[in-house]
Amino acid sequence: MIPYSRQSINQQDVEEVINVLKSDMITQGPISEKFSEEICNYTSAEYSVLTNSATSALHIACLALGLGSGDILWTSPNSYVASANVGLFCSADVDFVDIDPKTFNMCANSLEEKLREAEKDCKLPKIVMPVHFAGQACDMKAIKKLSHKYGFKIIEDASHAIGGKYGEHAVGSCIFSDITVFSFHPVKIITTGEGGCATTNNRSIYENLKLLCSHGVTRDPSKMITKTKGNWVYDQISLGFNYRMSDISAALGLSQIRRINQFVDRRREIAKRYNKELIKLNLALPYQDPRNSSSFHLYPVQTIHRNDVFNILWSEGIKVNVHYRPIHTQPFWQKRGFLQGDFPNSEHYYSRALSLPIHFELTDEKQEKVIQILKSFKS
Ligand SMILES: *Cc1c(COP(=O)(O)O)cnc(C)c1O
Repeated sequence: MIPYSRQSINQQDVEEVINVLKSDMITQGPISEKFSEEICNYTSAEYSVLTNSATSALHIACLALGLGSGDILWTSPNSYVASANVGLFCSADVDFVDIDPKTFNMCANSLEEKLREAEKDCKLPKIVMPVHFAGQACDMKAIKKLSHKYGFKIIEDASHAIGGKYGEHAVGSCIFSDITVFSFHPVKIITTGEGGCATTNNRSIYENLKLLCSHGVTRDPSKMITKTKGNWVYDQISLGFNYRMSDISAALGLSQIRRINQFVDRRREIAKRYNKELIKLNLALPYQDPRNSSSFHLYPVQTIHRNDVFNILWSEGIKVNVHYRPIHTQPFWQKRGFLQGDFPNSEHYYSRALSLPIHFELTDEKQEKVIQILKSFKS
């Protein structure tokens, strides 16, 4: 069986996790702090908050930026459902901005048009959440510029994109956003089992994220209301969740981030080989903006024979996948009033999309098998 993506766990990873299991602190200990620091080093962000999933990180990111009832969140329909769901968790309204058919990312021109209309109707979004699809960064400069004009905040859903670059900047640097979120689910670039992270350069957002992640509880004397001294005293000063990452997970993450460049380099190598071998076939290959550098979480091709190609590959044990059925076409979102046809670029892309296997443990031989089956398909 060849999956479209999967984790790569080595002996070092296993040992680091065992070390934590044998230590005094298996939840909030020194390893989480270290992993958090490493994420800051890697992305050049000032602050990072580890969470038990990217979904939790997106949720508290929205709350930290003040999203609530009566507010509006816009995201991309070409994403996992979590990107939109978190808006509803905050009792806000959710809408979508269609994708650029070339990059499959939120289209900055469509965003501008939609903002102009929304301004007339007094329905401007409080937060815009671009999604770095497949690991390729969105047009962040354009989106940032629009945020100045229309006054919205930006959360980058970079679940696919740790290890990617936007121009010279590591994704996660937050130079063009308020908060960036990563996922450490096993299919993503690095894993903690389940896990996620939010990065930011803003101290008050960071402090807010920390509180939201852990019951709204603090032991920081400068924030505490209670002046009684004693090591047992903590203050709950706001409402928060338990979205913390354990040290067991963080140990895996810390061990994995040490190999992140290896992981991403191998993914890029695989992409390059697909580019070269598949160019003559009747497939549309994923466009790469030469100014950026994708982490290649996915290698999405397009074909009008998608269903047939999908079935043939599956029958050969190659578990390709489709990313994504546009969120607004899901039954839940249709019930909320969205219609088929609302975001035609996303729908058109979805009808032809196929994500080929790409991950660290995909050997040359296995990739060759995928390529040969695609070459033998007569369209
Ligand atoms: C995986 C993913 C998520 C959710 O990540 P979890 O860590 O599983 O919560 C959100 N958005 C996108 C784009 C994703 O790919």
